[in-house]
This record gives sequence, C-alpha cells and structure tokens, in this order.
Amino acid sequence: MWRYQEALPFEDQEPPSAITLGEGMTPLVSLDGRNPNILMKMDYLMPTGSFKDRGAAVLIAKAKELGVTSVIADSSGNAGTSIAAYCARANIDCHIYVPASTSEKKIAQIKAHGAELHKITGSREDTARAAIAHVKKEKLFYASHVYNPYFYEGTKTFAFEIWEQHNFCAPDTLILPVGNGTLLLGAYIGFKNLKQAGMIKRVPKIIAVQAEPCAPIAKAFHQNKAISAVENIGTQAEGIAIANPARGQQVISAVKDTEGTIITAPEAQIDSAIQELARKGFYVEPTTAATYAAFKKYRGNFLNKDDVTVLSLCGSGLKK
Ligand SMILES: *Cc1c(COP(=O)(O)O)cnc(C)c1O
Repeated sequence: MWRYQEALPFEDQEPPSAITLGEGMTPLVSLDGRNPNILMKMDYLMPTGSFKDRGAAVLIAKAKELGVTSVIADSSGNAGTSIAAYCARANIDCHIYVPASTSEKKIAQIKAHGAELHKITGSREDTARAAIAHVKKEKLFYASHVYNPYFYEGTKTFAFEIWEQHNFCAPDTLILPVGNGTLLLGAYIGFKNLKQAGMIKRVPKIIAVQAEPCAPIAKAFHQNKAISAVENIGTQAEGIAIANPARGQQVISAVKDTEGTIITAPEAQIDSAIQELARKGFYVEPTTAATYAAFKKYRGNFLNKDDVTVLSLCGSGLKK
C-alpha cells in the first residue's frame, strides 16, 4: 500500500522498510462465475489476517517517526493483533487490552507477537475504559484504532486499491461491516480524496452492515436519532459488536453523504454464510460471513442489475 505514500502523512517519502510487512494490494476477485460484477476485496489475506494491518502499519510507522517507545491499545481482537505485530517489528513496547471473552486464537496471536496482554472482564466498553485509564496514568501513546486519526490514513488505502484494480474507476456500491467504522470511514475518506482530485465522478454508495443483536448505528440511522448505547445481547459477529461506537455519528454522515444505507446481518444465517463462502474458496471469520449474509438478504433492495459492487472480506477464518 506504500505505492500511495504521497497521500500518506509522512515527511520522508521512502516506505518504512523496517516496519512494513508488505501489507496491501490484496486481490479483488468475483464472488463466483455467475456474479462477475460482485467483487470480493480479500483483506483477510493481510499479514496478520485482517484489514486492520492497513491502519496499524501507518499508525505504528508514524509512532516510530515521532520517537514513541511504548503504546497502549484496546480491541476485541484483530486490531490488537495487528498493533502487536507492527510494534514487534518497530521495537515498540506494546500493551493490548482485550475483553476476556475474546477468541483464544486471537489472544494467542497477540501474545505470540510479544505484547503484554490485559484481559478485562466485562463489556467491550469496560476494556476501553481500562486502557484509557492506563494511558492517562502512564502518559503513554494511545494507539487506538478508534480514536487515533493516523489509523484512518492507513485504511483509506482500501479505496485507492479498489480504484486502481477496477481500472481507475469507482465501483457503484461498497458493502462494508461497521462496528467502530475504521474501515468504513477510511474507505469514505479515500474515495472522497479521489473525487476531490478529479479521479472519479462519484463516491460509491456505502451499504454498512451491523450485527442484528448489537446495532446502535443502524438504529440511530433508521430512527433519525442521535446514537445511544445499546446492550450487546450476543452475536457471532464479535468484530462488529460495538455497543457504543465513538464515531457512530460520523459513520451516519458518511453513509448519508453517499446515499447509502445501513442493514443488519441475520444472526441465524451466519453459519450458512461461512459455509457458502468456504464452498466458493473464501475462508473467513464469522464477522465477515455476517457481512455476506446481510448482503444476500437485502441485495434486492439496493442493487441495480449491472451495478459493480465490492464487498470486503475483512477477517480470516483461521483465527476463529
Ligand atoms: C475490526 C473488524 C471489523 C469492524 O471494523 P470497525 O472498524 O469496528 O468498523 C469487521 N470485521 C473484521 C474482521 C474486523 O477485524
């Protein structure tokens, strides 16, 4: 993704060769032979197995440039793994806070990269509170994928790559999972940048997907109200189960600006979506299968026949 370095926030225009793991330029392929216009962006093939590597690579390279020696982050799994891996490469000490319910494989991966792991009992929000308290107490760098703006500088390369891979055109529609909105907002910023530079005519319509049992952004969007916290009543789509998303209002504005909408993933169809994708060759985690399940349920509502649609496959099934 460093091919787009001119658009990234670094003084030096050399790629950070000691930090990059070759992240980016993931394949863009059709869903199957019958759906040539439905394209899968295979971000689960990233170095640590999720799109979070886009944001983490830029954020940690920037932290290194700023002389940071120790960071804290909190995550429901994939962001923590990614920050841990890039910190390991950059020789930065790393504390990762996760909810105690995080999947064993993600926890093992975080530890393997040498991060100090803090398991917090309670909700995802309790985990964030514990991390922020540690940041304040020790005055450490908060490598948060939610709050730190450099993370979004990385995720915007998702848009640039799709544009380049689609013959320097924007697709009509993007189907993106949304919990905190780090991919969605990055993609939105990236396509806006392309539009401002006169490279595309319009920003793709963004269809955001939330988990049915934890959908505060979908709820606020459809009721035309401010975001309020919901209770996560349990979902397999742990990667998007964010009960009180800090940037929820920003996500709603972005979706509205593209004339898109927000849908929810039918919980009961997640397992069959995992199997269906696997039978087409894509081995993804439940959160990603949820995005596909929602797309299948609602595609008739928003897709025109010849629309080119890109669906992001965000996380690897190997981590389940
Ligand atoms: C992080 C993550 C998401 C959700 O991203 P947000 O930034 O919270 O919107 C979706 N899928 C996977 C696999 C993830 O790791």
